[in-house]
Amino acid sequence: EVDSGVCFLLAGKGVDNVVIIGSGPAGYTAAIYATRANLKPVVFEGYQAGGVPGGQLMTTTEVENFPGFPEGITGPDLMDRMRRQAERWGAELYQEDVEAIDLKSSPFTIQSSERKVKCHTVIIATGATAKRLRLPREDEFWSRGISACAICDGASPLFKGQVDYHECFRVFDNPNVTVHFNTEAADLVSNTKGQMFGILIKKVDTGEESVLEAKGLFYGIGHSPNTQLLKGQVELDYSGYVQVEEGTAKTSVEGVFAAGDVQDHEWKQAITAAGSGCVAALSVERYLVSKD
Ligand code: FAD
Repeated sequence: EVDSGVCFLLAGKGVDNVVIIGSGPAGYTAAIYATRANLKPVVFEGYQAGGVPGGQLMTTTEVENFPGFPEGITGPDLMDRMRRQAERWGAELYQEDVEAIDLKSSPFTIQSSERKVKCHTVIIATGATAKRLRLPREDEFWSRGISACAICDGASPLFKGQVDYHECFRVFDNPNVTVHFNTEAADLVSNTKGQMFGILIKKVDTGEESVLEAKGLFYGIGHSPNTQLLKGQVELDYSGYVQVEEGTAKTSVEGVFAAGDVQDHEWKQAITAAGSGCVAALSVERYLVSKD
């Protein structure tokens, strides 16, 4: 069934219309829009720990701010729904990492652990990875006290009555906030129920240790964009994010688009990632039509 001129690009040439790299909200949203535009996208979903696709939200519990779920939804459930929606419209999904990419000549070449694909366009949606402190008990309390996203989790009932994050910009005047200078987090402390109870802190100058009682620990130490694969292929900015033309999904290479956290210094939310995935897929469609 061909109901779009775009599909003729595919016919008999062994070259796919579009390859999408990544399976977070940006990648799956791009896949949903691309399949509905009859572009028959190939999606490399990649691996999280344990080979699970779905991106960063697979590592969290409740997502309370994604529209359409008034009671909240767990991260894995939300990602499973996005995946099934992409699959329902016919996206070709591969749970494989892309290991090499050649964007220097068109058609582009994408090499995964299992296959090599030629394509006319690429959507890069490889996301970002929240930096971690690597405290000894960090894995034990990840998403059970530690969060890498204060915007997402700061309003959780778990932290009700704790520090008001809206006030942090007036930090020194705020009686709710105590700043510990010359201090680093050394480890985490649990109570007898195994719940997070506090943070073992250490004075940098004296080495003195004490326990700071806290139910939550928010990391605000930045993210690393997942762009190792792209070095020398598309323009990256000073901190390694994919550089896109402002207000668009266009990268420095014609026919290559980027969406989600991999190109987003600032917002890094599921909804903004999904929105930019939509923009990238619609841009691919326009681009292919213009070349047909
Ligand atoms: P990601 O979700 O990072 O997905 C990128 C995908 O690309 C992954 O599947 C990865 O495996 C894949 N990939 C990477 N390299 C390759 C490769 N070489 N080949 C193939 N695939 C590859 N946002 C909210 O709006 N609400 C929340 O409540 C919320 N909670 C959060 C809680 C936590 C703990 C964290 C870490 C983030 C949270 N966020 C939340 C932020 C949100 O998860 C991100 O903004 C969003 O997931 C970004 O989507 P993305 O599609 O750009 O990338």
